[in-house]
Amino acid sequence: MELLQRLTRRQVDTLRSIVEADKDGRGAPLKAIAARLKVSSPSALDHVGALEDLKLVERHRGKSRLTESGRATIVEYQRHHRVAESLFQELGLSPEETCEAAREVDLALSHRTIEQVCEGKGHPVRCPHGQPIPPCKGR
Ligand SMILES: [Zn+2]
Ligand SMILES: [Zn+2]
Repeated sequence: MELLQRLTRRQVDTLRSIVEADKDGRGAPLKAIAARLKVSSPSALDHVGALEDLKLVERHRGKSRLTESGRATIVEYQRHHRVAESLFQELGLSPEETCEAAREVDLALSHRTIEQVCEGKGHPVRCPHGQPIPPCKGR
């Protein structure tokens, strides 16, 4: 199974919270991660710990930050999410609706399926919100 397919929605949200809460590049304090996730510090710590076990997050002086592989995983996730959004856009969903629908499938789809959707859509460059879609090998 691919890494994204093994991650939970909570773990992906935790990765994104760490990026957002890491304001100066020195890492995100646990409190800030918990606040973004709207959970208690102990449960935020559970999610962070699971990501540390996967070597996606490392702790430095009490703060959490993404490893190189964590950063690559976020880019891969953005690719899956935004390609899925562009698929739902074709069905006439609003940008907000495409985002909700994409969250239901973006972790489940394999890289291969995402590549096929991307190719079928002519390698879209931006998602329905105008965010860049990280390129695939076909582009
Ligand atoms: Zn979205
Ligand atoms: Zn592509």
